[in-house]
Amino acid sequence: MSNPSSALPRSLKTLALFGGTFNPVHFGHLRMALELKEALGFDEMRLLPSHQPAHRAEPRVSAQARRDMLALALEGCPELALDDRELARDGPTYTVDTLEGLREELGEEISISFCMGLDSLLGLPGWHRWERLLELAHLVVVTRPGWHMPRDGEVAELLARHCGTMDDIRGHSVGRILVREQTLLPISATGIRSLIASGRSAQFLLPERVLNYIQIHQLYRS
Ligand code: ATP
Repeated sequence: MSNPSSALPRSLKTLALFGGTFNPVHFGHLRMALELKEALGFDEMRLLPSHQPAHRAEPRVSAQARRDMLALALEGCPELALDDRELARDGPTYTVDTLEGLREELGEEISISFCMGLDSLLGLPGWHRWERLLELAHLVVVTRPGWHMPRDGEVAELLARHCGTMDDIRGHSVGRILVREQTLLPISATGIRSLIASGRSAQFLLPERVLNYIQIHQLYRS
């Protein structure tokens, strides 16, 4: 006799990661992470602050301050968690190393999705050991206005080979790319930094607690 439950797709625990410099974190990041978690039904969504590339964002704000601002932003939001493992390491961190570390820690039997904007996907062939990424995780790609899916080239081929659905992500631990259209709030950290540098208000673009922290520590002033 056949077992009816064997016909059901197997369902793994699902972890999603949303990486960024978060300099500072704002409502665009927070809504994106929360909407992805709820819409796709991830069991866990972690925000993963990265080391800031040396060429970006003067004046420099310490990793500790970016981390503190994220922690403040997530207070009272049990849906989203902070994972600061990349800041604990010295020097540049590569996503592939972070994913290898997570795999060692969590094992093979968990579905891990790395979330990114379409702009990041298009630059993927420039990432360190990028071919390995889909052996360690799924990619969830959110389309952004002004960016289009490539028709040919390495990324187009990758999409054609790995394109998948949320059921694929629940049923497999690695190897699929899910593309999702999502409305993004028109907020950027660059815009917030330049408002503050020019003495204007950034209120209503980021959590009040984060704005207070910026004021107390006099961040982003020119
Ligand atoms: P910057 O302006 O300094 O480049 P940013 O606001 O784009 O910063 P990052 O920390 O570089 O933020 O981005 C982290 C992630 O958040 C990236 O995947 C990026 O695509 C995404 N992101 C940035 N702004 C928004 C937004 N308004 N809504 C949703 N996602 C966003």
